[in-house]
Amino acid sequence: MIQVPPADREPVRHLYVHIPFCHRICPYCGFYKHTPGATDRKRFIAALVAEAHHAAATIPLDIETVFFGGGTPTLLSHTHLELLLDGLHQTLPLSNVREWTFEANPKTFDRAKLEILRTHGATRLSLGVQSWNSQFLQLLGRDHTPEGARESFELARQSGFPSLGIDLMFALPGQTIDQWRDDIDTTLDLQPDHISTYNLTYEEDTEFMQRFERGEFHQDPDADAPFFLLAAEKIPAKGYHHYEISNYARPGHASQHNSAYWKGSSYLGLGPSAVSTIHRQRWTNIPDTTRYIEAVESFHHARGSAETLTDNDWRTERLALALRTSQGIALEMVGGPHNPTVQSLLEQNLAHIRQTHLALTRKGRLLADTIATELL
Ligand code: SF4
Repeated sequence: MIQVPPADREPVRHLYVHIPFCHRICPYCGFYKHTPGATDRKRFIAALVAEAHHAAATIPLDIETVFFGGGTPTLLSHTHLELLLDGLHQTLPLSNVREWTFEANPKTFDRAKLEILRTHGATRLSLGVQSWNSQFLQLLGRDHTPEGARESFELARQSGFPSLGIDLMFALPGQTIDQWRDDIDTTLDLQPDHISTYNLTYEEDTEFMQRFERGEFHQDPDADAPFFLLAAEKIPAKGYHHYEISNYARPGHASQHNSAYWKGSSYLGLGPSAVSTIHRQRWTNIPDTTRYIEAVESFHHARGSAETLTDNDWRTERLALALRTSQGIALEMVGGPHNPTVQSLLEQNLAHIRQTHLALTRKGRLLADTIATELL
């Protein structure tokens, strides 16, 4: 049973649900996911609801944000989505939810599916477009065309989602800065409420990593920098706030769920491979759908590994995440404004001080990881 220290019984306000199914596996993707294959999806949903039930009985919860990620949550059928969402509503305290996000891939939903999401409380859709260039969509092994992504975006708009986001990737093998500019411009023309731009990284145990190791692909932070800077210049010029290194939002559309992670708030994760962090306790569910289902059926939870974060772990993580945000890190966490490292960052125009916080400049954001290490 998950033990939450009595001194820390502040309710958990953020919930993540991992749906591991994808129609096709993208060769760069490092998340836990698989094609549905022979998985009994009804049994999987029953396990998710049972895990939620056990969590609600053992952890103080007052959920304010929900995030369905994966995998591809919108790959679940209409019937299975209804079953899952009804089950969670009956099991968890969701009356105070103010933001409910679904990650979605183009062409994995229709009007009726979006209607099910909306009537069960979803407020945001984050559409994994990645590129508007068919050549790169093929390279990324994506299952949609630019036209399909546009149709899905329009459909989601018509379905009345209060917040609609588009996810893009840059620094793709062979991508030119002009091709990236086209991707940004096409996205801006659609006027989404939120835009995420992710630098392609080469993850362990992926086909892209194998190709990288064979020398077919290369990574060069200096070559990637102009891509980041172009987005950081063009997107805010259209009224979006660059509130985290990879994220831009129109006023009122920043992700409250992700912001909670970056602030170090507690969160509960349900589903295979999902991570939970409640105060200083962190555990990861078994990253295997069959074993996850069997574990929940036997023990009511599927915790695979657990750790208690030390003060040092906690500070390191807080620093790295907070520095990625426009708010930055509280000066008191980095030794105050007179710390020589802070002074040096200010002199090099890599950071600035805003009242009580140290935040990175655009130039500093290119070096966020290095700066976080220097400030430790
Ligand atoms: S659709 Fe998303 S989760 Fe699924 S394999 Fe592709 S990148 Fe990974």
